[in-house]
Amino acid sequence: MTSASTDLNAERRRRELRLAADDVADVLVVGGGITGVGVALDAAARGLSVTLIEAHDLAFGTSRFSSKLVHGGLRYLATGDIATARESAHERHLLMTTIAPHLIRPLGQLLPFSPGVTLQQRAAGALGMTMGDALRMHARTPRAVLPAPRAVSTRTALRLAPALNPHRLRGGMLSYDGQLADDAKLVLTVARTAAGLGARILTRVRARELRGDGASVEEALTGERFELRARSVVNATGVWAGGLDASITVRPSRGTHIVLDARDLGSPTAALTIPHEGSISRYVFALPQQSGRVIVGLTDEDVPGAIPDVAEPSESEIAFLLASLNRVVEVPVRREQVRGAFAGLRPLVDTGSASSADVSRRHLVTTADAGFVTVLGGKLTTYRRMAEDAVDLAVRVRGLTAPPSRTATLTLVGDVYPADVHADTGISSAQIEFAVRTEGAMTVDDVLDRRTRIGLVESDRERARQGVETIVAQALAALE
Ligand SMILES: Cc1cc2nc3c(=O)[nH]c(=O)nc-3n(C[C@H](O)[C@H](O)[C@H](O)COP(=O)(O)OP(=O)(O)OC[C@H]3O[C@@H](n4cnc5c(N)ncnc54)[C@H](O)[C@@H]3O)c2cc1C
Repeated sequence: MTSASTDLNAERRRRELRLAADDVADVLVVGGGITGVGVALDAAARGLSVTLIEAHDLAFGTSRFSSKLVHGGLRYLATGDIATARESAHERHLLMTTIAPHLIRPLGQLLPFSPGVTLQQRAAGALGMTMGDALRMHARTPRAVLPAPRAVSTRTALRLAPALNPHRLRGGMLSYDGQLADDAKLVLTVARTAAGLGARILTRVRARELRGDGASVEEALTGERFELRARSVVNATGVWAGGLDASITVRPSRGTHIVLDARDLGSPTAALTIPHEGSISRYVFALPQQSGRVIVGLTDEDVPGAIPDVAEPSESEIAFLLASLNRVVEVPVRREQVRGAFAGLRPLVDTGSASSADVSRRHLVTTADAGFVTVLGGKLTTYRRMAEDAVDLAVRVRGLTAPPSRTATLTLVGDVYPADVHADTGISSAQIEFAVRTEGAMTVDDVLDRRTRIGLVESDRERARQGVETIVAQALAALE
């Protein structure tokens, strides 16, 4: 196994771009979301030589617009999909105990027994939490990592979520799941860990056509087109996968979150879990972030047609999320208190079912006629397993020699700058320099939108922009 620096930056990119164009890599990975970087890490950890190309920046796609939860897989039990639920709980266990305990914390999730939550919804919620705990036990996750669910008093419910309407509140049920400090940070950290094992991580290189033994690519900064050769190729382009693999039909589903000031909800310390009206299996979550924000999500909207680079939330989704939240809080949150909104596109594999909420959330790993592997679907929580399956298949179909995956016991790099600096305290120049020197940031947007999450609130973005721009320029110049 190669040992290299885990630093990603413009200078290394320049150097490795030249080398990649001359070499034949064992694995060429296309896509720098969580799936692609996971594949790069899995392959590099097996001792294979790896080049990863990403059309924009790391975590540019869906991976930065998630709910940031490391799920135990409870929602899959609701659809009877026990295997996926167990896989999710197992991957959560590995992430929280071995792979990334420094990036994940346990998050309490409170189902409030408010008047708007029916008896049937309370019973279903309580049963679900008990079953979720059975998944935790099956995965052998200790209670010290994820406490067991329990009923809580009205007083405790109000302490955890002070904005709840106390009128006729009858306590609630509290359960625990994993919460990432930041999803884009997970992507970067996996990419840096792969880079430390010798993987070449090349942002701003777009694949135009894939083959079993390479790709025609275009470098975004110069427009230069050239060939990359490889012994195997993995297409991990998420919702855009169908553009490179004609045999795949992706059915994008938009999920929107709104961003609120935590203070407007009394600075909650647990997430609120609010059942959709009339449903016992679908919820809106109000998730406290370390940044002094609460994100409230999420929606599930079919989005047929051309796939945008960045999805836009709609006003009706924002209204739905506010209305759901306002069913349980004392002082309704108004539209003008919404500080920002963001949307991601779920890369669901089209199975022809009627509603996008029913489409399988398990991942697909398949070989295209041209000989490359496509890996698609799944979620952040299961990226490691998706990556293992994709590399196993690539090794098999392309006749490579490689040991089994070893990522289940591989801890991600530890020197991580927190992404979620509180907007009020601003962003430090040391953090921006770290982003450029170590985390591969090349532009002000890379810093605002993917190395920090300041960009989630437009007014914060505008306030920070100029200062960040200056420091990014200086840090880039220092690398030359
Ligand atoms: C709203 C929402 C909430 C979610 N919440 C959770 C959650 O809480 N927990 C969880 O576990 N999962 C969650 N998920 C699921 C999870 O976010 C996704 O499954 C996962 O991020 C998909 O990652 P990916 O790498 O496959 O795709 P992406 O992150 O989209 O990455 C694909 C990358 O490929 C690049 N690319 C595209 N075309 C090309 C090309 N031709 N050449 C080079 N690069 C290219 C793109 O720029 C992009 O960066 C959520 C999903 C959504 C939409």
